[in-house]
Amino acid sequence: YSADIRDTLRPLYEGMSNSSSPAIRFVRSRVERMSERWEQAGQRWKQGSNKTVSSQMKVLLFPGALAGGVGQRFEAMVDRGGPLGELVQWADLGACLTILGHDVTISTSQRQLRAAPGRGSCPIQRPLTFDLIYTDYHGLAHLQGAMGLSFQHYQCRFRILDSFGTEPAFNLGTYARSHGYKTQWGSWSLRSLQYMTMFPHTPDNSFLGFVSEEAVRDDEPKSESYKKDKIAVVYGKQEYMWQGKSEYLEVISEELETHATVYRPPGHTSSLPSFIRNHGLLSQEDFLRLLHRTKVFVGLGFPYEGPAPIEAIALGCVFLQPRFDPPHSSENSDFYKGKPTTRQITSQHPYAEQFIGKPYVWTVDVTNRTDVQLALRSILSTEPFTPQEFTCVGMLERLHGYITHQNFCSKSVPTWPPERDLRGHLGPLGESCVSVCQRSSLQCEPALFHHLNTPKGLIDFKCMEKKEVNHLFPSYNPWGRHCGLQQEPLLFSCAGSDPSHRRLCPCRAPPSAQVVSKDC
Ligand code: UDP
Repeated sequence: YSADIRDTLRPLYEGMSNSSSPAIRFVRSRVERMSERWEQAGQRWKQGSNKTVSSQMKVLLFPGALAGGVGQRFEAMVDRGGPLGELVQWADLGACLTILGHDVTISTSQRQLRAAPGRGSCPIQRPLTFDLIYTDYHGLAHLQGAMGLSFQHYQCRFRILDSFGTEPAFNLGTYARSHGYKTQWGSWSLRSLQYMTMFPHTPDNSFLGFVSEEAVRDDEPKSESYKKDKIAVVYGKQEYMWQGKSEYLEVISEELETHATVYRPPGHTSSLPSFIRNHGLLSQEDFLRLLHRTKVFVGLGFPYEGPAPIEAIALGCVFLQPRFDPPHSSENSDFYKGKPTTRQITSQHPYAEQFIGKPYVWTVDVTNRTDVQLALRSILSTEPFTPQEFTCVGMLERLHGYITHQNFCSKSVPTWPPERDLRGHLGPLGESCVSVCQRSSLQCEPALFHHLNTPKGLIDFKCMEKKEVNHLFPSYNPWGRHCGLQQEPLLFSCAGSDPSHRRLCPCRAPPSAQVVSKDC
């Protein structure tokens, strides 16, 4: 069968009815709240330009963070200020796949998977009845236990929701162990594009994203839709995120009435500054309603890289956030320690800083009173803004592209995107392909590396050819006069730099209105 755009999300939320899990209730209520927008976007997208037809996929969503003992701890925090970003993404992924016409099952329990009702054999063992399994790092471990030998056989069908991203050097187990890239999460030796991120952190992974709230609802006249009060809302659902920030908050409260949505445990005396109006943790709907009348959304430095700032900007707020100097990374931050990435985090939300920027995003030194004051005073009436990649149509377009073109079960070299898109660039010493391509307003495309990885690619140099398993290859080393070619396709990596290597980079033009997506 081919997948036909659906005009309803009912099959998805009916599959989640009566769940006693707070996480599934959050997901369900988000899907229901946004269903009309999804349904309209599906119809709009269907009428748009001609697109490749994909066959209907049987898809399993298995959020491992909600299964087993880890799941119990996660669930216990959903209504107490715990992380919700992943749930936002699971909800939107389920909705997007359903609208695209695929057959979606959500499960958070291995037992339920092993004994799926009405089917003869275990659906996660051979033969696997799912064409695609979306899971996360926790889920990989559960699936490995439950699938036995089938795990390896079918791992090409997995897609891993991985908010912060996994670079190739951390992904290939043997290489990670022998080169100092072994971390708590990496080493599954999948294809790096099987990891799907919350923001476009690295082109080595697939950017999945989520859908942001939009400012203007169809049923509201525009002028009424974002009347702003002179208020700020502080981003931080738990009190520990506020530590050491009172001076910064004081400067803000001198200019604007300052609100918070911090979880209040029963019987607990708040240590928030007295000038803060705390609403307690709000339902997502009420939180978004509050943002609707808010002028400034104030970042405290944590949580990193979450969805809330994008929602706030879409609702007409300006996001004010701390700059990190020096940047945070796995070397100096407890949060990033053990995460399979070398990324340098220059502010609480680098995507907002780099891809959106002023006038919607102000990144300041929060210890500098004048800096904060100047930013606040320049924040005038700004119109709401939703980057195309965080709209329903943006996500439909992107996910459809992945489903029709990404085939990690084929042994042959990737054929998407086509070779004609390739712009080979030889970078300077010490620069990663991510920045080499960015510098020319292009983006690194790891699926095109194999075209460059030939002696012809480095023909301009009189050099000794060297084939090696090395995440910096293909590259040229002027000192040894070595032309390094990559021996292990799993290590083709846009990330990675070294002062003695000039990397040969597969760049391409950003394909569509989305700053960061691959076209369909
Ligand atoms: N949110 C909420 N109630 C609140 C504050 C936030 O429902 O009082 C929602 C918000 O709309 C966002 C989600 O929580 O979509 C995740 O927020 P955040 O950016 O804080 O990421 P996290 O750290 O929770 O993953």
